[in-house]
Amino acid sequence: MKTMIYADNAATTKLDIEAFQAMKQFLIEEYGNPSQPYSFARKERKALKDARATIAECIGALPEEIYFTSGGTESDNWAIKSIALQNVMKGEIITSSIEHHAVLRSCDAMRELGCKVQYLPVTEKGIVQPIILKKYISNRTKLVSIMLANNEVGTIQPIADLAKIAHRNGALFHTDAVQAVGHIPIDVEKLGVDLLSASAHKFNGPKGIGFLYIRKGTDIIPYTDGGAQESGHRAGTENIASIVAMATSLKKNCVHLKENTKKLQYLEDCVVEILSASDIDFIRNGSENRVPGNVNISFRNAEGEVLVHRLDLLGICISTGSACDSINTQISHVLKEISVPGEYAKGTIRISFGISNTESEAITIGNSLIRILSKYKML
Ligand code: PLP
Repeated sequence: MKTMIYADNAATTKLDIEAFQAMKQFLIEEYGNPSQPYSFARKERKALKDARATIAECIGALPEEIYFTSGGTESDNWAIKSIALQNVMKGEIITSSIEHHAVLRSCDAMRELGCKVQYLPVTEKGIVQPIILKKYISNRTKLVSIMLANNEVGTIQPIADLAKIAHRNGALFHTDAVQAVGHIPIDVEKLGVDLLSASAHKFNGPKGIGFLYIRKGTDIIPYTDGGAQESGHRAGTENIASIVAMATSLKKNCVHLKENTKKLQYLEDCVVEILSASDIDFIRNGSENRVPGNVNISFRNAEGEVLVHRLDLLGICISTGSACDSINTQISHVLKEISVPGEYAKGTIRISFGISNTESEAITIGNSLIRILSKYKML
């Protein structure tokens, strides 16, 4: 069987084996509903409480500030729509032009209901500058939503500075931290955020589970109405097995954060050095301050889609920097906003290493890219 190299960890990650072991018992043996008072559900109630406490500790929050959701998309939708719906017609939202679609589409939906939405431009490295936020913000602004780390180019934003500006103007601050939680140190107090979205499958947890941090005292509309779960803010029987696995994988990632970061940066360097030693013409996108493991590069006069398909034939999974439909290959909104030059933009790929990747895999990816791109030139 052909060996497979998976280097698309910004899309999703492999479930950690300890997380898998931890969740199993809550699927088969301990399947009670934690809302029930009998002793059979005691273990589930405790597991829920412990998982909430573990997650809170990992991000410097209080357990009662963690609300379980179905993932990053739900957390983003909840944060944005909840604040906007309290202020439609009289309030405005500020976000950036390089957010994930979970944020951008949520803002679009609120705009259709009459909420004003402003999109901050970014620098060529994908940074939202505090000075730009100062220009746009006013006392009508109810929410500022800026991602902590970008999913395409990995750029980390100056969230603490941006949150201060929001608060000085009486606005709440939300950050989509889906690409950051479990990958860089997170402390909600130091960041000064009111709302923070996270998703387990980006940090070796299961898919379809995540959380929204809501600072104590923040006035937020429930995401779903029904039972009293999640302090009456997100009704529905809890996905205990996945919640337990999420807490297990997040804690493990946080404990090993330093060594993971070192390894991922080494893997990044391997690929970039191999490409730099060749005569291939490429640029690297994003800022130097980025999530570890992200290598977003644009090759001159190449097609990202073709590179992804050719690598796939070699058993290598990476991602393209452009979104494709059946007729047009489009440059992603992020690449447009950071002004990647036209002759490079279409040739963009994103390699995102994870903790299971090895040095030899990074070398294989670098060499395979050179081989494919050299053939290209001869065509
Ligand atoms: N926000 C960012 C920055 C992401 O990268 C993603 C997923 O790619 C999401 C939100 C959506 O998360 P989920 O897949 O858990 O819904």
